[in-house]
Amino acid sequence: MEPSNKYRVVWYAAVMLLMLGFVLTAQRRRVVTVDSGSRPLMGTLARIVVVAKDSARAAEAIELAFDEIVSLERLMSDFDPNSQLSLVNRRAFTEPVPVDDSLFEVLSASIEYSRLSDGAFDITVGPVVGLWRAERNTGVPPTLQALEEARRAVGWQSLLLDPGKKTVRFAKPGMHLDLGGIAKGYAVDRALELLGQSGAQGAMVDLGGNIRTFGVPAHGARHWNIGLQDPRRNEHTLAVLNLDNLAVATSGDYRRFAVVNGQRLSHIIDPNTAQSAQSVSSVTIIAPSAMQTDALSTAVTVLGDQKGLLLVQSLPQVETIIIKNGAMIKSANAARFIAKTAN
Ligand code: ADP
Ligand code: MG
Repeated sequence: MEPSNKYRVVWYAAVMLLMLGFVLTAQRRRVVTVDSGSRPLMGTLARIVVVAKDSARAAEAIELAFDEIVSLERLMSDFDPNSQLSLVNRRAFTEPVPVDDSLFEVLSASIEYSRLSDGAFDITVGPVVGLWRAERNTGVPPTLQALEEARRAVGWQSLLLDPGKKTVRFAKPGMHLDLGGIAKGYAVDRALELLGQSGAQGAMVDLGGNIRTFGVPAHGARHWNIGLQDPRRNEHTLAVLNLDNLAVATSGDYRRFAVVNGQRLSHIIDPNTAQSAQSVSSVTIIAPSAMQTDALSTAVTVLGDQKGLLLVQSLPQVETIIIKNGAMIKSANAARFIAKTAN
């Protein structure tokens, strides 16, 4: 063979190898995104997006994650008389009630958030929530007397947990637990954990605005982009957040509120006053876990912007964006998550 031909062969071989390398790498990177669409769950809408090697695997993982949320709802629903939570609410003043590990975990965490927030977050607020819930149907607000009476049954210090026996007990009569401010976040964490174990390369779980992401973003994007809704204008996005391997939740009066005497009342109750918390329009929390963002968004709504900001700044890896009187109040590092603002 002529020397020039020999070089040509080597040259061709090198080019072919390089191309093969590109093709193989592209193959390895090729993933599909599967979106579950919205399904009614836990009194709200749930949506799961999975990035995986193939759509069959993604669809299977999605179903497993939904099953997990369904089983947690069966445990923790306040509306289902057969849930373990309902059993606790009926019996825990009479005797200690043993509960599943998941429920025990949520109850322990709730007490921790009560302690952290100086009682602003309090799952024993159930009797007061019940009165305001009735108002939603009848349009008649509860009397001060009824609220005062309900408030006497509130107090996280009277919720007694036995970590050894995994039992729950109420120290005073009339107590009623409401996990509406934390169970969805916990369920998001559990669903996401399962998705990770089932081989998904990336995923997002959204349970009524309690959102957490991990891994490879959907549709080949560089980041998981989450829209932050304007508290006063439905379907209007205030900002887009880049949230990779993080959770976000917003408590606001835009989705569930009642109008009483011309005032918008949020469904979040200040346990101290038994009144609806309404000093801020919305509170968004960004943190590693969805249980954190769920509970803290409720807590900061009660605390208001000043005390709320102090609480957030005291916690590592937690940021907040508070909307009050149309203005955006941000914690020290919140801005780094904002990819785009509307105005
Ligand atoms: P959403 O349900 O819209 O996501 P939140 O996560 O902020 O809203 O939780 C609000 C729910 O939490 C209420 O519907 C009620 O069930 C419960 N709740 C209300 N006030 C408190 C409070 N101070 N602490 C803990 N839970 C609360
Ligand atoms: Mg919450």
